[in-house]
Amino acid sequence: MKKLVTFALSAACVCALALGIAACGDDNDDAHTHKLMKVDAVSATFFENGNSEYYTCDCGKYFSDSEGKNEIQKDSWVIAAIGTTADAFDAFTVYNSKSTKGTKGIVCGLDTGANAGPATYFGEADKNLDWDGSKTTIGFSLDLSALEENDFTIWDLSFNKKEGDEYKNTAEYELRFGIAKTANGFVVCDLFVPGVTFNAETDLAEILKSDKTFDESTVSVSFEAAIDDDNVLTYAITVADVKMEGEGTFTCDVVGFRSLWNAYLNKDGVEAYNFTKV
Ligand SMILES: [Zn+2]
Repeated sequence: MKKLVTFALSAACVCALALGIAACGDDNDDAHTHKLMKVDAVSATFFENGNSEYYTCDCGKYFSDSEGKNEIQKDSWVIAAIGTTADAFDAFTVYNSKSTKGTKGIVCGLDTGANAGPATYFGEADKNLDWDGSKTTIGFSLDLSALEENDFTIWDLSFNKKEGDEYKNTAEYELRFGIAKTANGFVVCDLFVPGVTFNAETDLAEILKSDKTFDESTVSVSFEAAIDDDNVLTYAITVADVKMEGEGTFTCDVVGFRSLWNAYLNKDGVEAYNFTKV
């Protein structure tokens, strides 16, 4: 009895499907000649999606070819922003030989010579990502599961000024945070004022002074920044649910973002991925 019921239901489904296809073909395709508009291919950049070439028609269908023979689904042409893929690794300038391409993004490696992890310059040729100072958030995810007690990682977002035709690091303010693993979880510290000493002991000690904690070993982090007409920078750094805010005044005009850098670490294996800008 049970088997019979199942068979009856399956047969009904197949019929409905067959009818649906037939109706579609009769009503639309025969009466309509596609008038195709070409959409040019656009390369993906670090933060922005690109697309492959495709064609649209007023009837709401999309095609991969200029004759309308090969229909494709909406958004099938999207090429993901490089920073949201494992290829983000290729967009980083790796200052040591220990950082590697991970399954999600870039696995930061400790090089005892340099102690610095990878950095990406926003625009490899001129090292600049134009910015008008309006509130912008650069975010990414960190997998911290490789860290053991007293291991730390420090991240840094830097800004450009312009001298003649050249973009240069302002070297006045950089946004930075440090995360250290403790016996109970993680502590996070805003390093905007004390900065980074590039001494493992003092940097770890500075991070451990913080009373801001979180538990998750996989977290979203972000740098939010805005600069007004008087060159006042206001920022918020968010790690997990911990938000750290502050401000500083530049003596120069800031024209863009320069780099995102894993400035310092004392243990390899932290993976950074899914870089976004909004
Ligand atoms: Zn059409």
